[in-house]
Amino acid sequence: KAKKHLGQHFLTDENIARKIVEGLSFEDYKNVMEVGPGMGVLTKYLLDKDQTIYLAEIDTESIEYLKKNYSKITENTFVGDFLKQDFNFINGEQIAIIGNFPYNISSQILFKIIDYYGQVPEMVGMFQKEVAERTAAVPRTKDYGILSVLIQAYYDVTYLFTVHENVFNPPPKVKSGVIRLTRNPKEGLAGNEVLFKQIVKAGFNQRRKKLSNSLKILNIPEALKTHEFLDKRAEELSVMDFIGFTNLWKENQ
Ligand code: SAM
Repeated sequence: KAKKHLGQHFLTDENIARKIVEGLSFEDYKNVMEVGPGMGVLTKYLLDKDQTIYLAEIDTESIEYLKKNYSKITENTFVGDFLKQDFNFINGEQIAIIGNFPYNISSQILFKIIDYYGQVPEMVGMFQKEVAERTAAVPRTKDYGILSVLIQAYYDVTYLFTVHENVFNPPPKVKSGVIRLTRNPKEGLAGNEVLFKQIVKAGFNQRRKKLSNSLKILNIPEALKTHEFLDKRAEELSVMDFIGFTNLWKENQ
């Protein structure tokens, strides 16, 4: 029986499962981690690949089921809670991430991937459609926000396809969307990550206001006070605008 507090909705459509797994390239990395394998609908296709598969699952019933039903899966396949991962067990190697994610921790999963982008070249995953759209959003749209800018600073985002509620057991309340992230860190960001996140968050937290207002709490450097971006709202700035502005800010701090 599905456990609601773990965000369990099991995918019942094999074609969609195969399509999600085929969203990964399986090139240039030896490891793949699946988040929340559940009863293994994606896992069985992953086990056909050459990569070493790691499973992050916190439901003991699912873990027992997977061990019993797939001979390639052993105790060592499991790495526990995804949110507690530090990827130490692969000694700095590259690892791709895949999953039909538990929707209650969507943003935390995405922020975790950003924190470890040096080790994560690729991710394919299912989120609630609204979150999937937010990650892929472009400037001057209502979906464009903190998630879009922070992710796109490190990854190219492709919205792959939409998945209907009725292919899950139990069906979730909303549609789902599958996206692919391909690592492509934008030039110029290195070193100023903390300030970058502060500026993006403060800007979008008051998204109807001009940046001259929303960024006040960060003490705008004197030399930037007449900058043209301050007359704009956060949603009007591209990812590269935010990066350029962050670097200028740092130089003038
Ligand atoms: N992959 C299966 C499928 O597609 O049918 C299950 C997907 S279900 C939406 C999400 C899964 O994530 C559940 O199996 C749940 O137990 C697991 N899960 C929830 N929180 C987790 C966490 N913090 N770390 C790892 N897995 C988690």
